[in-house]
Amino acid sequence: MGFVRLLPRSASRSQDATAELELEADMSDPTAEPELEHEDLPLTDDVTPPVVSRPVVMPNVSVPGATGTRVIALANQKGGVAKTTTTLNLGVAFKEMGYRVLLIDLDPQGNLTMSQGLNPDTIDTSMYDVLVRKIPISDVIAEREVDLAVASIDLAGAELALAALIGRERSLEKALVEVRDRYDFILIDTPPSLGLLTINAFVAASGVIVPVQCEYLALRGLVQLENTLEMVRENLNPRVGVEGIVPTMYDGRTLHAREAVEILEENFGELVFKTRIRKTVRYAEAPVKGTSVLAYDPTGTAAQAYRELAKEVLDGAQAREHA
Ligand code: ADP
Ligand code: MG
Repeated sequence: MGFVRLLPRSASRSQDATAELELEADMSDPTAEPELEHEDLPLTDDVTPPVVSRPVVMPNVSVPGATGTRVIALANQKGGVAKTTTTLNLGVAFKEMGYRVLLIDLDPQGNLTMSQGLNPDTIDTSMYDVLVRKIPISDVIAEREVDLAVASIDLAGAELALAALIGRERSLEKALVEVRDRYDFILIDTPPSLGLLTINAFVAASGVIVPVQCEYLALRGLVQLENTLEMVRENLNPRVGVEGIVPTMYDGRTLHAREAVEILEENFGELVFKTRIRKTVRYAEAPVKGTSVLAYDPTGTAAQAYRELAKEVLDGAQAREHA
């Protein structure tokens, strides 16, 4: 994948430590951009940099930026794990609690756009135009259950078009400046890959929520996801980290699902949200009607699960603020 080529890892230990110092400096100055090219760093052979701790440790909770907005990417390079379902229903749950919410559909398949009753095939301007042609993001925001920056079929060409641009990893981050202070939460739905669209989401985000299907095989991709995040932290956005892992499509009647969650908790501990999103056909029925499950079946357990997840995401941030 092109990403490894785009973001060179440090060649030596001393460069590593210096790069970390740079990142720490960046954290105190939110307007500064981290260095991309380690060769540019002012290194001399006879200087031994002091040992510094990593600027970001897991678990991470996205803290509001200067504008108080929390930008959260929903990511997992595996498809069909409930990224889109979680983006929509978590967003609607935050809105029910009184927060101002923007969803961003960054998946060329446009499932999030579809799940709000819009057709990506007939949309003229979309996140493609925002990322590649630099039109204002407000031009592609549709007012639905929650505000939604839409995807269209064009977005499939965005990875290629972005690759040719300078600042290709920061396109989304820059686009969000215009609307950040109008929202309390910005949730980004990402495609099932760790390509440039997902990298753009990681660079714009302060935290990542990872939906994981309760199956053994679903757990394997998490290491690769964390490696990609580590590269983003080192080179592009020192603040971003995994905020939490959501077990989805949980069927408590099967030993397999219970064991898969146990393995998840053994490996990731407190990062695993307590809320289990159970397997139910409600989540597939709601998008057909163009609504969230909270609107489709407001009093059902499926809707309640996402309200609980929303509380956990909020409580996690508060717990750490007071820690
Ligand atoms: P992703 O965005 O990761 O590809 P989706 O959110 O589109 O995943 O979910 C994949 C499919 O599974 C969709 O048809 C969705 O309606 C369904 N689905 C999502 N969550 C659940 C759940 N908890 N139980 C049953 N089906 C679900
Ligand atoms: Mg999806």
